Amino acid sequence: MTQEEIYARAIGQIQERRRNAERTQETRTVQIHSEIPETAELDRQLRSACLDIMHVLGRPDNQERIAAIERHCKEADAMLRQLLTANGYPADYLDLHYTCPLCDDTGFVNGKPCKCLKQEIGRIGAEALNAHSQLSLSQFSDFSLSYYADLPEKQFYAMQQVFTICQRYAAVFEPQTSGNLFLWGGTGLGKTHLSLAIANEVLQKGYSVIYDSAINLMHTLDQEQFRRTKESSDTLPSLLECDLLILDDFGTEFDTAFSRSMMYTIINSRVNARKPMIINTNLTPTEMKARYGDRIASRLSSSSQILPFYGEDIRMKMKIENS
Ligand SMILES: [Zn+2]
Repeated sequence: MTQEEIYARAIGQIQERRRNAERTQETRTVQIHSEIPETAELDRQLRSACLDIMHVLGRPDNQERIAAIERHCKEADAMLRQLLTANGYPADYLDLHYTCPLCDDTGFVNGKPCKCLKQEIGRIGAEALNAHSQLSLSQFSDFSLSYYADLPEKQFYAMQQVFTICQRYAAVFEPQTSGNLFLWGGTGLGKTHLSLAIANEVLQKGYSVIYDSAINLMHTLDQEQFRRTKESSDTLPSLLECDLLILDDFGTEFDTAFSRSMMYTIINSRVNARKPMIINTNLTPTEMKARYGDRIASRLSSSSQILPFYGEDIRMKMKIENS
């Protein structure tokens, strides 16, 4: 799903909340009018007072008249609420109840996206990510240091540090100030788990995150280049623009001239624009140089915090424990 689609879907959700609030109010009004007929008359008075105010607004010396109508409205409104409570309903039963009191379910406050819209974008993004990566979104709370308990003390301590750094990275993530993380180590040591946990938390904050394996991404880009169709050519701009890009299994993509030049474009553009990335790989620095050349390897290592992962394949360990 593209960022535009996620945004459109989020706006649709917020608008649906607003319509729901209005529908609930309508249903309740019909119900209360038939149960407590006096409320229908009070509602009619309130509505006609609104019209009266509109009529006198443009006239000269209208203050007294407006004040009188407002007084009348207040009284009618108070009576309506009294009737509701006297009949066992909450006083605000007939009010509009929006899900988000900050923006009244419009999604915007003073022209800026509201917290609820950002959250919705994050939620839908997480869903899309989840569907795409075929992995249930990992949480920090599912990550257990006990899988590293057999390691020598120094390495266990290093893993403890890695865990803390990843949690902190997610907690204070800001697209303008966060740096790059380079998670380095063998397969099954928790790199994917921790980077997905970061993705999850950053998405919840309403930022855009793209998470994918290098092999998948290169396949998608290759297909798009091959087809050159309008609707399928938006992966590269999203990769360059998203708030956080997570490249899993960096170095496992097919080594072609196309994939090298794409990787170069992605990494170089993001480093230049100071846009955060998380790169997971088991390539050693020497292997990386050999494969992508000095320039990209040194750009990456100089702009990233390198986190080495130690241990045995924890996925194997988990499987054995759960069997
Ligand atoms: Zn809101």
